Amino acid sequence: MSGSLVVVGTGPGRPELMTPATLAALAKATDLVGYGPYLDRVPATRPDQCRHASDNRVELDRARHALALAASGREVVVVSGGDPGVFAMAAAIFEAVETGDPLWRTLDIRVEPGVTAMLAAAAEAGAPLGGDFCAISLSDNLKAWATIERRLQAAAEADFVIALYNPASKARPHQLAQAFDHLRKIKAGDTPVLFVRAAGTAEAKVVTTTLAAADAAQADMRTLVIIGASTTRQVGRWVYTPRNERGARS
Ligand code: SAH
Repeated sequence: MSGSLVVVGTGPGRPELMTPATLAALAKATDLVGYGPYLDRVPATRPDQCRHASDNRVELDRARHALALAASGREVVVVSGGDPGVFAMAAAIFEAVETGDPLWRTLDIRVEPGVTAMLAAAAEAGAPLGGDFCAISLSDNLKAWATIERRLQAAAEADFVIALYNPASKARPHQLAQAFDHLRKIKAGDTPVLFVRAAGTAEAKVVTTTLAAADAAQADMRTLVIIGASTTRQVGRWVYTPRNERGARS
């Protein structure tokens, strides 16, 4: 098998947040495969490059298409948003390898890390991920809502800062409200909650509130929600979590 496949992430949006290693992989590619809006973020590099834009819902089909192209000898780059390994295409590629043509296991496959939304969102707000944290996707396309609630509960009981990806979509408008209701039973009402929209772009917007007051309607598909730990606090217009578990004021 002579082709190759590199899975990259565009970062949260601003071109400067795409890594040089990602740009180098993009410049070498004969074929780019990805969801249309992510491909649109990729600067035009060479005129002979083929762009295969697809609908966001068919990740496994897209992965198989990319693997078949690589197996035919093409230099393929699969483009995700943010980091390609965080709720994105890298895992879909390996799922396709596991269930697909055994020859795909011999392909030259590489993953380049990218700046994930959680990191860009945290940076907009200060340092809310300064202590231990976890990331949970609220999308129940690939897992049961009961699983999501169990993980939210465990994360709250363990006092992690919680970053919520996919907090809302048109198909799932009520889940974030349910998640807040669930967390209110465990965590203090004055826990800081951040809604960070379009982090790492010129339109970035941060709304800082509390768990008691948090309104799920603030979130859309481009929002990352961060729910603080018990030590997470505001200083001026920033929110941070001290590294010391007893809090910074000790
Ligand atoms: N692979 C991506 C995440 C894909 S899941 C990454 O690493 O960032 C898609 C979810 O990511 C969105 O629903 C939203 O919650 C979050 N997201 C992606 N880009 C964002 C941005 N610029 N600002 C805030 N949240 C973002």
